[in-house]
This record gives sequence, C-alpha cells and structure tokens, in this order.
Amino acid sequence: MEWFKIKSEKDHDLLVVNNFIHRVDRIRDKTEYYKCIQNCYEQNHAILKNLKNKTDVILSKPHYHPTHGVKLANRGFRNKLKEELTQNPTKPVPKTFNEIRRSVITSGIEGATNSEVIDAIPVFTSIKSSGYRKKMKMIPPLPSKLSDLTIER
Ligand SMILES: [Zn+2]
Repeated sequence: MEWFKIKSEKDHDLLVVNNFIHRVDRIRDKTEYYKCIQNCYEQNHAILKNLKNKTDVILSKPHYHPTHGVKLANRGFRNKLKEELTQNPTKPVPKTFNEIRRSVITSGIEGATNSEVIDAIPVFTSIKSSGYRKKMKMIPPLPSKLSDLTIER
C-alpha cells in the first residue's frame, strides 16, 4: 500500500493511498478514518492505524473511479514553482516555469504516472498570474522618495 499525507489548501490533513485522496472523517484513539474526496462511499474508506512501532494504512473499499493522479501532479507542479520563485524572487517567471516543466517531465512527480504528469502540467497562461503575484510579494517596492531610503551605518 503506497500512502503519504499532504495538506489541503485549508491546511487540513489529507491521506493519499494508491493515488486516491481522502479527507479525515473521524479520529478514534489511534485510528484515523478517512473518506474519499469524491465521496464515493459514506465513510471508513481508508483507515490509518498508529500501532506501536509502525503506522498501517488500509483501503477498506475499492474506488470505482480513476485515481487522483492528475490532481496530485498538478499540485506538485504548482508547489515546485512556488518554492522556486520563493528561493529566487528575481528569476523571470517564464524561465522558472520552463525549467520546472522540463524537470518534472524528466524526473516525474511523487504518486503520478508519466502521462498524468503531462496532463497535469498547467498551461503557462493559467499559472502566470499567480506566479507573478507571488513574485510581487517577494520584492519590496522601490522607495519613491529619497527620504524613504535609509542607509545603515
Ligand atoms: Zn473514491
């Protein structure tokens, strides 16, 4: 069983099992019960048990729909772009975008197949605005008056 945890946009725990994304349903003692983000069953879909020395995850019922691999790959791509722009705020966004595109095609994204990665790479125009917004926050505006400019001695 291949599984890992990620955070949702609202900072909730999500459990990814075999490329299906689940959200927390309830937690009882050391057992966490998750359900599919598509609600394909009411509850108890994926179960995570914290045992003494290891954590065990089971998928208690099958999902009768395609995996969330494309969603995961898309998320992975956007996170990489954000990380890269945070580390190199002066680097041009199109250049950064193309470098990440090349690198994810070569090395892949955790939990996604190659074709899912290709499907998930956003078109540049869809990512441009959020990419630039991110960049604007990173670079402080230039001082408009000479008196705004303080030089530390
Ligand atoms: Zn499902």
